[in-house]
Amino acid sequence: MALPDHFLDELIARTDLVDLVSQSVRLTKKGNSYWGCCPFHSEKTPSFHVVPDRQIYKCFGCGKGGGAINFVMELENLSFREAVEVLAKRAGMAMPQWGSSPGARERREKLLTINREAARIFHRWLYQPEGAAGLDYLRRRGLSKATLTRFGLGFAPDRWDGLITQLGQMGYDKRDLLDAGLAVNNRDGRIYDRFRNRVMFPIIDVRGEVIGFGGRVMDDSTPKYLNSPDTPVYNKSRSIFALNLAKRSKADRVILTEGYMDTIALHQAGFDSAVASLGTALTPDHAQLLSRYFRQAILAYDGDKAGVSAAQRAIPLLEKAGLKVRVLRVTGAKDPDEYIKAYGPDAFARLLDQSENQVDYRLAQLQSQYNLEDDGQRVTFLQEAAKLLATLPSPVEREIYGGHAAQTAGITPEAMAMEVKKAVSQRLRREEKQLTRKVLTPASQLQPQSRALRYENIRSARAEEGVIRLLMLDPAIHRSLDGLEPEEFSSPLLSRAYDLLRQRAQEGLSTQLAALAEEFDAEEMAHLAQVADQPETLANSGRALADYIAVIRREALRRSGGSESQLLLAAQRKNLEKKAYTEDKP
Ligand SMILES: [Zn+2]
Repeated sequence: MALPDHFLDELIARTDLVDLVSQSVRLTKKGNSYWGCCPFHSEKTPSFHVVPDRQIYKCFGCGKGGGAINFVMELENLSFREAVEVLAKRAGMAMPQWGSSPGARERREKLLTINREAARIFHRWLYQPEGAAGLDYLRRRGLSKATLTRFGLGFAPDRWDGLITQLGQMGYDKRDLLDAGLAVNNRDGRIYDRFRNRVMFPIIDVRGEVIGFGGRVMDDSTPKYLNSPDTPVYNKSRSIFALNLAKRSKADRVILTEGYMDTIALHQAGFDSAVASLGTALTPDHAQLLSRYFRQAILAYDGDKAGVSAAQRAIPLLEKAGLKVRVLRVTGAKDPDEYIKAYGPDAFARLLDQSENQVDYRLAQLQSQYNLEDDGQRVTFLQEAAKLLATLPSPVEREIYGGHAAQTAGITPEAMAMEVKKAVSQRLRREEKQLTRKVLTPASQLQPQSRALRYENIRSARAEEGVIRLLMLDPAIHRSLDGLEPEEFSSPLLSRAYDLLRQRAQEGLSTQLAALAEEFDAEEMAHLAQVADQPETLANSGRALADYIAVIRREALRRSGGSESQLLLAAQRKNLEKKAYTEDKP
């Protein structure tokens, strides 16, 4: 009997693998992962690591690997079911009945459809006489028509039954509207619209589905913001506003703001990697989600006391998820929106860049720890400063900031430069050592360790691994798989993994490795962890995916003894069939 999918998903989302492993292994952060001595074999130097943004562990010594659930299974020698129970208890979740939940998926689909319809209705209202106040408000906030369209903004009129009447005419009943969080029950069992006289912001997930709404008043009445309650499709501690747009940004830094208006204003001004958490402080789930798409995070919270403390809470969460964090100091305006209106986008871009170069700030922090009048302390300060500067990638930066440090300590820039050079070569030696261990895996290790899982066709298997990795990193790419079928894979193991991951992605379920723990044995999980552990980025993922698929198909044809021209023919035929099919559909 299977567990309800949403339960397993929530369990996985609530379980942070670094936290979990830390209970039994001492982990040290190095680069984007955490290293420690393997709990499954005896060793003195760490060859076991946990990758937070992929939520996997892997030992280069004994080869074990996987996700949270099979970690517990292996460590405590438990069955899948027992391990799930251990983790559920740890996450404070009540165990559901072990049974399938028929209809849950259909229910989810229906709620998503209602939300989509509601978003359309709200958007239409914005341009009708009833929505004039909303449109006027958004225009006064400086939003262009293109922005209103891009974010699908809308308006809920000042009526008790505006939305429920419209949706009712489309055949949705009371239960549907309550479940979607769009309506509220009153005491005598009648329902009324949750959102009234508010401008409406649809919340869209990374797959492009409308999962909920935020509504804002246009005056000073309260509550200023009203959000959808948690529903089967919306969970505020896991949803990030505008990530559906920001994930396509070319910028490698995400800009975190405190609210939708800031985020939208930033997008309109050209900063398309801005996002906001909604109706809640940033959670570990938010941080993990962001780390899938970005390497750096800039906190652009309000400059008031609440903003500062929210930033302080967010920093460790983001760092733990492997993101480099910078804090933006908005001076001369209340928030980024006001700042851009007052000083323009260029000034804001400069502000962003300044937030990146906090080297002087960190040097000042360091300086405050030492008494520079004392020769001994001055030497230690310079050595520490050199270490700090050695982490800067650019020689120009190292020289400029080295000059600042030299001036502070009263030595010549040349002497400082020598010290920095020494620290840089130490750093490079250290990194090289790590790299040798991590990346230069002997070719034999690329094969699954178990003979039963050996690859028949290495070239195809490499590409198959790539497809699987991309699906794990971003389930949304299931839309771009070009009809790739598990049968086209050369490795039976990878074929099975692909089949399951594709299905989960289509159903909107988690595609993290941990979710597969029930389907694969320890050896298979260990190999899949190794697959997940290889480098892969989501930048240009469309192109990478197309390349992988091309290799898989070419190799499949080669195996069946076909020629290149046959391959072309086959591809054309497939295309025609697909076309005919889509044209047949109403
Ligand atoms: Zn090991």
